[in-house]
Amino acid sequence: MNKAFDFNPYEALKSILEATSLHIGKDFIKSAADEIKKLYKADLVFITKAVNFNPTTKVEVLYATNKNIPKEFELVGTPCELVFQNKIVEIHENVNKDFYKERNSGFESFYGVPINNDGNECIGHISIFSKEKRKLAKELEDIALIYSRKIEREIFRLELEIENDKIREELEKLTITDPLTNTYNRRHFINSCSDLFQQVKRCSIKATLAYIDIDDFKNINDKFGHDGGDKVLTEFSNILKDQTRNGIDKIYRIGGEEFCILSINATLDSTYLHLNRLMNTSNTYFENSQYGKITLSVGLVEFTKELENFNDLVNIADKKMYQAKKNGKNTIVK
Ligand code: GH3
Ligand code: MG
Ligand code: MG
Repeated sequence: MNKAFDFNPYEALKSILEATSLHIGKDFIKSAADEIKKLYKADLVFITKAVNFNPTTKVEVLYATNKNIPKEFELVGTPCELVFQNKIVEIHENVNKDFYKERNSGFESFYGVPINNDGNECIGHISIFSKEKRKLAKELEDIALIYSRKIEREIFRLELEIENDKIREELEKLTITDPLTNTYNRRHFINSCSDLFQQVKRCSIKATLAYIDIDDFKNINDKFGHDGGDKVLTEFSNILKDQTRNGIDKIYRIGGEEFCILSINATLDSTYLHLNRLMNTSNTYFENSQYGKITLSVGLVEFTKELENFNDLVNIADKKMYQAKKNGKNTIVK
């Protein structure tokens, strides 16, 4: 067996400073593995996080110095399994003979260090493989434990970041969503409309706005109560969602019983056909429902570069919708 390679305190200090001074989170985990590989003169280093606990049978690889390591693997048949008994594992030789999953790996020696949380549970590990038979210097154990502790903090930080991202996403969704119908809200309509207007001005894309108002909605509330009215609004918005064309239409509830659809890559004629189909679907649906006949008045407008701003566009669509009301409702004006 090769004799234990000398422990070089200067190299160790340099390694830890390199890894810790500049990086946090994912970057730290990567630089820690790279530095460990250098310091321990290893052929492969990877850092994992347990996928399940007590017992841990599967791990997620947070970073590996070699590209062919899978993102997740089962511990059985590898020396890593022993580390999850929450102990440092040092195997000086025969790793490729004694562990069936290492048979073609060419590795002789293994050094595995648990990563513990504050409750002293093993939540992951550092794997250090070498193609040489060897025994590591005792001091390298302390260095590995320093790394392990620091990695645990960074895993904790990563998990907090993921949690925070999720919360931020939820909040962002809430700020643009109408709670009753789960369509976009008025605030988002104004932003989307303004963005789309700028896009139309800059590039030569086509876009349309459909302004939809449910006819005689007051009567629905009178007949079925406010809750009944709300039910009609959610059922109507479900019809809108069903009829939405992926990547073309976005639906907004901009007021009580008023909805808008913004469509990109659509012309006035294609939107008219689309809205006509949508109207027929909605009419048929409600005629066959407990609510009876419910109809729509719709104003359609195409975005044009000539308009001053998007408010003009919304006003035109709104006027056309009122024209549809004057024309006897249950109709589309384009
Ligand atoms: P028109 O055909 O001219 O559009 O008549 P309308 O009765 O639909 O129009 P109007 O704007 O006069 O009335 C809309 C009604 O919608 C009045 C309001 O009480 C009701 N409304 C507004 N928001 C909600 C809501 O969130 N839920 C329910 N159930 N009703 C609402
Ligand atoms: Mg209205
Ligand atoms: Mg109405």
